[in-house]
Amino acid sequence: MPSAVYVHIPFCRIRCPYCDFDAYRAPRRAIEGHTEAVLAEIASRRHELRPITSLYFGGGTPTTAGAAGLRAVMETLRAAPGLLPDAEVTVEANPTPRDAAILGELRGLGVTRVSLGVQSFTDRLLPMLGRDHSAAEAADAVRQALSLGLEVSLDLMCGVPGQTMRDWQADLATAAHLSPGHISVYMLTLEAGTRYERLHAGGRLELPGEDEQADMYEAALERLAQSGYEHYEVSNLALPGRQSRHNRVYWQNREYAGFGAGASSCVAGQRWTNESHPTAYAEAVRSGVRMPSLLERLPPERAMRETLALGLRLLEGVELTTVRERYGAGRLARVLPVLRSLAVRGLVTIADRAALTRRGLMLYDGVAAQILAP
Ligand code: SF4
Repeated sequence: MPSAVYVHIPFCRIRCPYCDFDAYRAPRRAIEGHTEAVLAEIASRRHELRPITSLYFGGGTPTTAGAAGLRAVMETLRAAPGLLPDAEVTVEANPTPRDAAILGELRGLGVTRVSLGVQSFTDRLLPMLGRDHSAAEAADAVRQALSLGLEVSLDLMCGVPGQTMRDWQADLATAAHLSPGHISVYMLTLEAGTRYERLHAGGRLELPGEDEQADMYEAALERLAQSGYEHYEVSNLALPGRQSRHNRVYWQNREYAGFGAGASSCVAGQRWTNESHPTAYAEAVRSGVRMPSLLERLPPERAMRETLALGLRLLEGVELTTVRERYGAGRLARVLPVLRSLAVRGLVTIADRAALTRRGLMLYDGVAAQILAP
C-alpha cells in the first residue's frame, strides 16, 4: 500500500511555449469543481493508502486551487489515511507576487516545501519563456519562502533560445547566492505540439546546439558543487540532507497513489492514469468508473527493467541484491548482459550496485532505452 501521494491540479494561468503538459485555463468555478472531484476520489480510494510520508501537489499550477482548495485536500487526507507528523508536503508554485502572497498560508496548513518554477533569473529571457514574473520577483519569492521556514526547490532551465553561457553562469550564481536547499536543472527539449516546436519547424526559433547545452549542464554541476550542492540525480542537486523524499519514490520505482485529472498511480503491480481532461475526470469520479482503459498490469520483468532504468537516475545507483530479492535471480540474469555491454562502453559501473559513469550521465536517455528494450 502506498504512503506517497501525488495530487494533480491541471490548471495554469499562463501557457508556457515549451510545455507539453495537459494544463488548462479555466474559471474559478471549474477549478473548484475539480477540487471537489479530487476530494470524492480520495474518499473512494482512501482504503488503498497507508499513513502518508510524502504528499506532492503538482500540475499545472497547484496554487490555482487557492489555499482553500489545498486545505480541503489536506484535511481530507489528514482525516484518513492520516499525514505522519514528519511528512514532506510539497507544493509547486510560480515565483510570482501572487503565489508568494499565499506562501504564509500554505506554511500554516502544514506545507513544508515549495518547488518554484523560476527557470531563469535573466530578465531578457523570461518573456521568451512565456513567464509572467521578473527575475527580481522570482528572487523575492525564494527569499519569502525561505524566511517562512519552507524548504525551497527551484527549477532552472538551460538551452533556452538566446541564452549565452554568461547568462547561465549568472543564473547559477544567483541561485547559489539565494541558497535554496534543492535545485533542479533541466535542459530545454522541443516537445511535440508545443509553440516552440511549431516556431522551430518554421525556422523562427533558434536553440543552442546539443554541445552548447551539454556544456551548460556541466557548468551547472561544477558551479553548484562549489556552493556545496551534491548532484544526486540526473537533473537534481541538493545541499546535504535536503534531497526530495517524494521524488525518490519514483526513482526507486515504489508505490504511489495519484489523485486528480491526469494523475498516475502505481499500486500492487498495476499502473493507471486518470482521465486527463478535468470534465471527463470529474464525470468518471461521479460515476465511480475506475478509468479501466488506462490500466496496465506490469509483468515482473518489465517492472524490474523500469526499476533499473529509473534507479540509475540516482547517482548512488541501484543495489543489485535488492533487485534480485525483489524480482528474482533469473530475471536479473536476463538483463545483466545489457548492463555488462553498457559497462564495456564506459556508461555504467557494476559492482554491488549498478551506477552511471559521468559519460553515462550525459547519455542517460540512451542507457535507459537499452535497459528497457525487451
Ligand atoms: S511550465 Fe508549468 S506553468 Fe508553464 S504551462 Fe507548463 S505546467 Fe503551466
